[in-house]
Amino acid sequence: MHCPFCRHPDSRVVDSRATDDGTAIRRRRQCPSCQRRFTTIEAASLTVVKRSGTTEPFSREKVLSGVRKACQGRPVTEDRLALLAQQVEESIRTAGAAEVEAHDVGVAVLAPLRDLDEVAYLRFASVYQAFDTLEDFAAAIAVLRAERDAGSGGTSGGDASTGDASTEGARAEEPAGRTT
Ligand SMILES: [Zn+2]
Repeated sequence: MHCPFCRHPDSRVVDSRATDDGTAIRRRRQCPSCQRRFTTIEAASLTVVKRSGTTEPFSREKVLSGVRKACQGRPVTEDRLALLAQQVEESIRTAGAAEVEAHDVGVAVLAPLRDLDEVAYLRFASVYQAFDTLEDFAAAIAVLRAERDAGSGGTSGGDASTGDASTEGARAEEPAGRTT
């Protein structure tokens, strides 16, 4: 790695630590020639394959801007958005592939966004899954309602909680058939 100041072809690592999210290593380096210090960041390369077949490096900023658009006017803070983008990147990197389809990045956004804000989720899903008709929205809303009903049943009654785990699982599968 060339020194960015004097172009000396070598540098010495003086400190090395993982970033907060653990997906990269930050190294503090010193140039043995000019003695100046600089930082490099090392992360596993993650390539996104677009539908057209072209590739680009994974960009958390890109995830963030897509989700931010869907959250316009919604009570969602920048901090929550940043956290969501981080969760998305972590879930993709944890899967361990060096290449992911752009589609899979969208899939990874859906679940955490649904937990964050249902309206934003519907907006994102409508663009990302190309909702064409009102029925597409109605079906997506039916899924949200079914899961909300299943969830509220579990939290309200303490004694019913034992049986709930199995019914929740069954209901989560149901909505796909319900669209017909
Ligand atoms: Zn130098």
